[in-house]
Amino acid sequence: MAVATNIIVGSQVWVEDPEVAWIDGDVLEIKGADIKVKLTTGKEIVIKSAQAYPKDPEAPSCGVDDMTKLAYLHEPGVLENLKSRYNMDEIYTYTGNILIAVNPFKRIPHLYDKHMMGQYKGAALGELSPHPYAIADASYRHVQMVNEGISQSILVSGESGAGKTESTKNLMQYLAYMGGRPGAQGQRSVEQQVLESNPVLEAFGNAKTVRNNNSSRFGKFVEIQFNDRGKISGAAIRTYLLERSRVCQLSDPERNYHCFYMICAAPPDVFKKYKLGKPQTFHYLNQTNCYELSGVDESKEYLATRKAMDVVGISSDEQEAIFRIVAAILHLGNIEFVKDKEPDSSKPKDDQSKFHLKTAAELFMCDEAALQDSFCKRVIVTRDESIKKSLDPLAAALNRDALAKIVYTRLFDWIVGRINESIGQDAESKSLIGVLDIYGFESFKTNSFEQFCINLTNEKLQQHFNQHVFKMEQEEYTKEEIDWSYIEFVDNQDILDLIEKIVYVRKNVAKPGGILALLDEACMFPRSTHETFAEKLFQTFKDHKRFSKPKLSNSAFTIDHYAGEVTYQTEFFLDKNKDYVVAEQQALLSASKCSFVSNLFPPPQEESSKASKFSSIGTRFKVQYYFDTLHTSNYSSVSNLSYLQQQLQALLETLSHTEPHYIRCVKPNNLLKPSIFENQNILQQLRCGGVMEAIRISMAGFPTRKPFKEFISRFKIFSPDDVKKRCDDDIKTSRLLLEKANLQGYQIGKTKVFLRAGQMAELDARRSEV
Ligand code: ATP
Ligand code: MG
Repeated sequence: MAVATNIIVGSQVWVEDPEVAWIDGDVLEIKGADIKVKLTTGKEIVIKSAQAYPKDPEAPSCGVDDMTKLAYLHEPGVLENLKSRYNMDEIYTYTGNILIAVNPFKRIPHLYDKHMMGQYKGAALGELSPHPYAIADASYRHVQMVNEGISQSILVSGESGAGKTESTKNLMQYLAYMGGRPGAQGQRSVEQQVLESNPVLEAFGNAKTVRNNNSSRFGKFVEIQFNDRGKISGAAIRTYLLERSRVCQLSDPERNYHCFYMICAAPPDVFKKYKLGKPQTFHYLNQTNCYELSGVDESKEYLATRKAMDVVGISSDEQEAIFRIVAAILHLGNIEFVKDKEPDSSKPKDDQSKFHLKTAAELFMCDEAALQDSFCKRVIVTRDESIKKSLDPLAAALNRDALAKIVYTRLFDWIVGRINESIGQDAESKSLIGVLDIYGFESFKTNSFEQFCINLTNEKLQQHFNQHVFKMEQEEYTKEEIDWSYIEFVDNQDILDLIEKIVYVRKNVAKPGGILALLDEACMFPRSTHETFAEKLFQTFKDHKRFSKPKLSNSAFTIDHYAGEVTYQTEFFLDKNKDYVVAEQQALLSASKCSFVSNLFPPPQEESSKASKFSSIGTRFKVQYYFDTLHTSNYSSVSNLSYLQQQLQALLETLSHTEPHYIRCVKPNNLLKPSIFENQNILQQLRCGGVMEAIRISMAGFPTRKPFKEFISRFKIFSPDDVKKRCDDDIKTSRLLLEKANLQGYQIGKTKVFLRAGQMAELDARRSEV
């Protein structure tokens, strides 16, 4: 953004400050390149004038609803604008096509009532205050346009707790409202059903974390399908990467998935039947001191979830099985192991552990001895024979956790699948509105595999965003034959290459060669460790400018992401990447007498012996496809990361056929409290979300465009006679009107007038003077 050249004594400026980002003040003196500023805090400082930004003395105190309307557009101006709006509960602001939503951390009921929805119905985008309803309405109308309905997508992003899921609900509420009356016989509309699936998904996929009391631990893409008559004809919910480690491992002050606390508060008959206890008595829940959520009554939540499950078409038998499995997982966690007689062998520790083993087996309806063996023994198949090997207590406990995680993930996938079945998909759908609610960029003190996956997702979406916002902008100028010096934008293709590059070994034979491929390779070789994996990374990418090895570690690596550097610890990368189903556990549960349980573990389909240990989710979702297209039949491993990459590829393919809208959610403070607006924190989020970059690019060009007809009709007042005379030549008429208005620096394209930032406001002002 341009630095001020027009600073004079007496003018107001913004000065950078390490604590609050920007402070305003008055210029007292100018000495060469230096200026003396009296800050509003009372302090006087001397800085280089190039470091100050001019402050708009006439900026409206209530802010402007679109950043591109700001007279002085720069970082402090953007921040000040958001802040003054936030203080008045105006939590939404446009930046051109992007809707910024700042989490109010308090209910603002009038913002979301029926009356509000009614107002947005059919209103042009930008006519009313910024709102998710406006985006939903524009999408709805575009997708429905007869003959040329264009698919739409709404991409909601932001860090944990920023308000993505709430915004997504607002969007769905609006679509449900537009969808109108329920069908015949009181059937609920598709949109209604999607909305009603939320409580179920949240019970099983959300948890309290440090960042958000109701954090979605999975990504979600909801696809609303439209038929060729522009009517909603189906919907699908796709989920991404449920955080599975949470099932067995918690850190203070976080909780496990909500459903575990609900089942512990179930009515007495259920509680007894599943031999439950307080959450404090279960290892999977008592690793932290956090059990309760303020304002939440778990027993009521249990009943509400059961009801919500009814609504989305999960039968009461299925519900019974689902909660029985949830209870079984809790019992699994309480089985402890100690050394048995033979060396390196293990057995349940005591009567307590035996009780939980027995109960888990009962609830899974599987054989108790086989369940114990699946933890404490491993069958090793060699060429000639198979040997049963005993495992030590530590390995047994890891096996137990692996079972808990795989069962829970399959249960979650089943629930999503069932919701989709009951809503119904339209395979022939012509167009769609997709809404994406997915975790934002993460960079913590320690970052592991989960952050790597999340940040890969964000790199991909960022590229999509870049391409859309920036490339489309340039294409538009080219198409309209507008003079325009091309603006550079930060392309992140090199980071994506680093992670998922494809190397051509010889003609038509390609092999993935990025970090992802090296990780998958490491997972396939039994002797690999995280150190050998890290070493291989260092060797392979030592010259890559986005990759570096931290000085103080031999097992961590740093990637220079679009949103900043992140250092990843590789310690658990291999384990977390393996989509591992222990063969014995697979056999055990697929033989369960409960058909619900056995259905979660269908017999593996024609998996080769090598791949069989490595995945079954993969085969279920046809992950093979990716490798087939690369002609690498010998490379058939499927891991969590490559599965995610598959899903992302499919998602981007879907998005590429849509017209995207962006909602960037911002979390104003980490205390999750209303009325606290932390400047630095917010700026960082705006930078990570590409908002600042989008503003920069847009401002450098001609952010306001109007098709000639619209332009003429809006400004004919400048010269009504000329408009009448020249009604056949739009270009000449538009030019004439612009000349009459005495405007400079605009451009005339082939179909539109292109204006610099702020010029529309200028014209509007003159219009009222005429
Ligand atoms: P995560 O990535 O952890 O799932 P998220 O971005 O989905 O986070 P939400 O769960 O949508 O975050 O929002 C967190 C909390 O912030 C909500 O539980 C709610 O209390 C509050 N909140 C968010 N948006 C709004 C809003 N528009 N109005 C009122 N409160 C809100
Ligand atoms: Mg969420």
